[in-house]
Amino acid sequence: MPDLGELEKAFNKRLAELVERAEGIEDDLRHKLDADSSEQAIDLADDEALAGIDNVLRDEVREIREALLRIERGTYGQCSACGAEISAQRLKALPVAIRCIKCA
Ligand SMILES: [Zn+2]
Repeated sequence: MPDLGELEKAFNKRLAELVERAEGIEDDLRHKLDADSSEQAIDLADDEALAGIDNVLRDEVREIREALLRIERGTYGQCSACGAEISAQRLKALPVAIRCIKCA
């Protein structure tokens, strides 16, 4: 079992980074609304890419919040499907894992 205090710190740090990046992306999107219409085609492609990044960010934020909640409740490292302990090796590779390797 990893050091939960350290893990919590690392999760919170990552969460802050992700929120900052998400805010940066939102700023970009806002600026694009003011952009010259001749750049619209390029902007459209960019917006799609940004929307994709945004989804990835959102998913990661959700996963980290879930992991933090599990630390708080004392269920961190426990498989959400079968209740077995998730191996330390798996948690090291994927700290936000909520299922054991068999249930993943
Ligand atoms: Zn399981």
